Amino acid sequence: MAGTEFYGAEERKEINDVLETGIFFRYNHDQQRNNIWKAKEFEAEVAKLVGAKYAHAVSSGSTAVSCALAAAGIGAGDEVIVPPFTYIASVEAVIFAGALPVFAEIDETLCLSATGIKNAITPKTKAVLLVHMCGQMAQMDEIMQVVKEHNLVLVEDAGQAMAASYKGISTGLFGKTGCYSFDFFKIATAGEGGVMVTNDEVAYKLADNFADHGHDHIGSNRGMENHPIVGFNYRISELHAAIGLVQTRRVPMIKEKNNMHKKFMMQELGKISGVTFASIPDENGDSATFLNMLLPDTNAAQKVVDAFNANGVGGFNYWFTNMYHFINQWNHIKEGKVAAKTNVQLLGAPQDYKNLDLPKTQETIGRLISFGIRASWTEQELKELVAKMTASINQAMSQTA
Ligand SMILES: *Cc1c(COP(=O)(O)O)cnc(C)c1O
Repeated sequence: MAGTEFYGAEERKEINDVLETGIFFRYNHDQQRNNIWKAKEFEAEVAKLVGAKYAHAVSSGSTAVSCALAAAGIGAGDEVIVPPFTYIASVEAVIFAGALPVFAEIDETLCLSATGIKNAITPKTKAVLLVHMCGQMAQMDEIMQVVKEHNLVLVEDAGQAMAASYKGISTGLFGKTGCYSFDFFKIATAGEGGVMVTNDEVAYKLADNFADHGHDHIGSNRGMENHPIVGFNYRISELHAAIGLVQTRRVPMIKEKNNMHKKFMMQELGKISGVTFASIPDENGDSATFLNMLLPDTNAAQKVVDAFNANGVGGFNYWFTNMYHFINQWNHIKEGKVAAKTNVQLLGAPQDYKNLDLPKTQETIGRLISFGIRASWTEQELKELVAKMTASINQAMSQTA
C-alpha cells in the first residue's frame, strides 16, 4: 500500500543532510546550504521514475492539482468534467480555480469512461480532470480519442496512481499536465507533498511560477527576479522533499511486491462464484496499491462488508458509504455550502448537483470493495488474509443466494 511501510536509515540520512545545514527553504542560501538541494533532487527522481520531462514539487497532492489546472490554463467559468468517485481534492481544486465541475459517469475501470465524458460535454466544456483511481489507470485509448475529437484540455490527477502506466506511458503524462500526491497514505510519502508533471515546457514554467508567488526563479536571487504571473505559496520544504526523495526510490520495489500480492489475491478470490474485479486496462501498468473486488450487486457487497466486520477482516474500504471518496457523501457540494462565494454560486451550477443521474457510477461503486495491499506482507500473512476473506465472502454469499 503505502511507502510508510518502509521507513528507515535512508530517510533519516536525507533528513539529516538538511538538518546539518539548517536550510529548510528550497531556494537561495547558496553559501550555507553546502550544495544540498532536496526539492530539486526529489523532482529529478520523480521525473526519472515516471519518464516526465519536467516535475515540480509542491506542498501537497491537492496543491499539485491546483498547479496542474492553472498551468493547463483552466480558470474562471470553465466547465471541467470530473468523476463522482475520487478523493474530494480533485473537485475542490476545480472549484477553487474558479471553474465549474461537471460530474460524468465512471465505469468498471473505476475512472471516467470515454462514453461518460462524451455524454457530459456541453458547448462550455473546456477540460477533463481525469482521476486514475485505486492504483489503476483509465482506458486511455478511448479517452484520448474523445479528448482529441472535442478539442478538450486533459489534466490528470494521478494522486493515487503514481507509477501506474498504460501501454508504457505513465499516468499523469497523457494530458497537458498531471500530478501525484505524497501524503501519508500513498505509494510513496513525503509526510505531506505533491508533484506536478508535464512534458510541456511552457506548462512547467507556469507551474513553477504559480507555486511560488509568480517568481520566475531565473538566476540565483529569488525575490529579486521577475514575476511573469500572479501566483501563491504552494512550496514544499526541504525536509519534506528529503523524505519524498528516498520514498520515490523505493517505488519500483513496492510496485513489484504489490503486483505479486494482488495477482495471488485475484487468482484465489476469483475462484469464488460471484466475485469479479475492477477492470484494469493495462495489467502490466498496475501500481497494485489496491485489490478492487466487485460483487454482483450493492446488496451482496454490503453483506460481504458486514461479514468482514463481524469476522475481524480489516484493511478494506467500502467507498459507497465512505466519507471522502464518493459523491453520495458530498452534501456540502450538492448544497453549495461554502465559507465564501465561489464561481459555482456566482455563475450557477452547470448541473443540478442535488439530482444527478449517474446510474452506472452508483451501480459500480455499490459493488466495489477495495483492499489496501501491503508490500510488506509475508506469504503467511497474505495466505491467512485470503483464507479469512474467502470464508467471509462465502458466508455472505450463501445469505444472499
Ligand atoms: C490523495 C489524493 C489527492 C490529494 O492529495 P493530498 O496530498 O492529500 O493533498 C488528490 N487526488 C487524489 C486522487 C488523491 O488520491
